[in-house]
Amino acid sequence: MRNNIYAYTLDELEDYFIKLNEKKFRAKQVFDWLYQKRVNAFSDMNNLPKNLIEKLEENFDINILTLDMKQESKDGTIKFLFQVRDGHYIESVLMAHQYGYSVCVSSQIGCKMGCTFCASTIGGIVRDLDSGEMVSQVVEIQKLLDKDNKRVSSVVVMGSGEPFDNFYHTMKFIDIINHEKTLHIGSRHITVSTSGVVPKIYEFADMNSQVTLAISLHATTNAVRSMIMPINRAYPLEQLIDAVKYYNQVTNRRVSFEFGLLNGVNDTVEEAKRLANLVKPLLCHVNVIPINDVMETHYEKPKHMKINQFVKVLEKNGINVTIRREKGTDIDAACGQLRAKKGNLKKKENVCQEV
Ligand code: SAH
Repeated sequence: MRNNIYAYTLDELEDYFIKLNEKKFRAKQVFDWLYQKRVNAFSDMNNLPKNLIEKLEENFDINILTLDMKQESKDGTIKFLFQVRDGHYIESVLMAHQYGYSVCVSSQIGCKMGCTFCASTIGGIVRDLDSGEMVSQVVEIQKLLDKDNKRVSSVVVMGSGEPFDNFYHTMKFIDIINHEKTLHIGSRHITVSTSGVVPKIYEFADMNSQVTLAISLHATTNAVRSMIMPINRAYPLEQLIDAVKYYNQVTNRRVSFEFGLLNGVNDTVEEAKRLANLVKPLLCHVNVIPINDVMETHYEKPKHMKINQFVKVLEKNGINVTIRREKGTDIDAACGQLRAKKGNLKKKENVCQEV
């Protein structure tokens, strides 16, 4: 299989060209065609010599994602189902906000974390996506926005998969889209969300990156968290909170805790008080998510009143909190749902929502 050209950093492409006995500056020209002019074929790169175009065609692929399905919501959210080269399907979501457009990217095909409210995990993990497959999701969506002269301004790694279980490729993906010769998405406009892979939180802290770290918390006791998020059995709350403290100290940046409210499971006033006490000493923000109903599980989202009550307790305790606005509910903008349909998987998957 030829290499996906979007998996390359500029440095790597320069090295590759030197090995091919080509001039180093050609890599910058190619990057310009890939990321600024955003062409669909090497043959469109008309300031390159013909023999170099032939070499590129021999060695690289430029279109590794095939758009299989697109669903558009009234609120402007668009869900994409792409087929990758080995035949599997992945989903990405484009969301329109007041501040611009954001893309929610998948990091794996399937997921092995086993969170009971999330359907990305149905069928387990197929494989990691590589950095190029992640970059291509953003580039393909940017190409569609180009028709209206619009620009992807932020990226969230909150689609299917656990990015910290695919750390190397996720970090490389971030480096590529952040680079000034590519789409140049600012670090502060990139968010990576983890279910709590503690050793990787330490590693990420030590990188001192400006990328926002989101943590899916969803419960305040080990008993409940272990029940709904099996990763808690490997890395219980105490270890997770210690890792967040370390992150706060090293980076002086706040984390964004995601707290999905499940009716009758984690939506009580007592839970809200415990949450306030747990996160009070931390630099953080809490994003309360009215959980998306998942077919074939007993979970439901709590009534509005209950959600508001939960949020009020946090506010009263001085916690910085927002309720996440759902996106694309009329099209079931659930990451993985199209893929699930395609693969006859029955459960709905999680929704990409506003951070
Ligand atoms: N594995 C990573 C990133 C992917 S999930 C993580 O766990 O953070 C992205 C977000 O969607 C997480 O906060 C996850 O808990 C949430 N999510 C999963 N299922 C959901 C559902 N049914 N409704 C709403 N959010 C959900």
